[in-house]
Amino acid sequence: MEETKKKIGFMGLGIMGKAMARNIARAGYPVTVYNRTPGKAAELEASGIRTAPNPKALAGKSDILIAMVTGPEALDELLFGAEGAAQALAAGKIFVNMSTVSPAYTESLGKRLAASGAVFVDAPVSGSKKPALDATLLILAGGPRDTVDELTPLFKTMGKGVVYCGEAGKGSMMKMANNLLLGLMIEGLAETLLFGKAGGLSQEALNEVILNGPLNSPIFQMKIPPLTSGVYEPNFPLKHATKDLKFLLETADNMGVVLPAGQTLLSLFRIGVARKWGDLDIAAISKVLEAINDL
Ligand code: NAP
Repeated sequence: MEETKKKIGFMGLGIMGKAMARNIARAGYPVTVYNRTPGKAAELEASGIRTAPNPKALAGKSDILIAMVTGPEALDELLFGAEGAAQALAAGKIFVNMSTVSPAYTESLGKRLAASGAVFVDAPVSGSKKPALDATLLILAGGPRDTVDELTPLFKTMGKGVVYCGEAGKGSMMKMANNLLLGLMIEGLAETLLFGKAGGLSQEALNEVILNGPLNSPIFQMKIPPLTSGVYEPNFPLKHATKDLKFLLETADNMGVVLPAGQTLLSLFRIGVARKWGDLDIAAISKVLEAINDL
């Protein structure tokens, strides 16, 4: 007899969440969604996914509640607001935060939810819009090991793999580490292309050296097209990269760890956001480099 699938509630239908909720439903789970701006659920409703009127109602009808929203403010609103989901979380239910937040916030969230009796797992993701659409994200999970094991088939409907990082909060810690390298790689690529072009090297030759040698990486393959075309369609918006790096540097500061390149990167990101490029893709960091070079 086929196993009955758990009922999934999904909050947050942005760039990532909409694709992730759709992939869970495609795998046969009963999915209900909630989004602050209701219009964003319309496309999913058309494919048979139900909508809950508020987060509390969503949590009430779900075995597993997932959030994929901007960050702490959005989570506080959805969980602890007037019709917040926390009111309907209870023993036997699982709450999974997949949004990127700091390990410190994750820890405090775990404490605030403890009284509900629900099990809390933090599971941010590595990967952007396309991996979310293609269900090839990497899930960075923190929480009780048996719960993460139980959630693994569900996670695999959204991703190609699950990395168990430790207790709740360690998923967020891994996400911070991942995004530091991601940001530095993209900024390094943008800086290298700017230097190469200023030195009279052709884009083709630069691409060949970067992509055919030991430097090659999927992230360089993904980011060379926007960097060369100057079209920064937001896969991972610069404003979110800035938020994440701020969390990371606060975390490093709390641990007494100095990250000099990370500090510089945050200054560059902030210039980009101040210039109103926050809604563009993180690759728009090249616009910051051009601006400070007066190009
Ligand atoms: P997004 O497109 O900006 O979507 C943000 C979502 O959060 C929307 O559903 C939005 O609702 C909701 N939201 C924001 N503020 C809210 C509030 N105060 N109350 C209730 N809901 C609120 O973001 P995204 O790119 O999908 O990213 C979601 C999370 O994944 C972020 O933590 C991000 O850092 C992380 N992440 C993103 C990527 C990426 O490449 N995009 C990759 C890995 C991880 P509305 O529709 O009503 O605005």
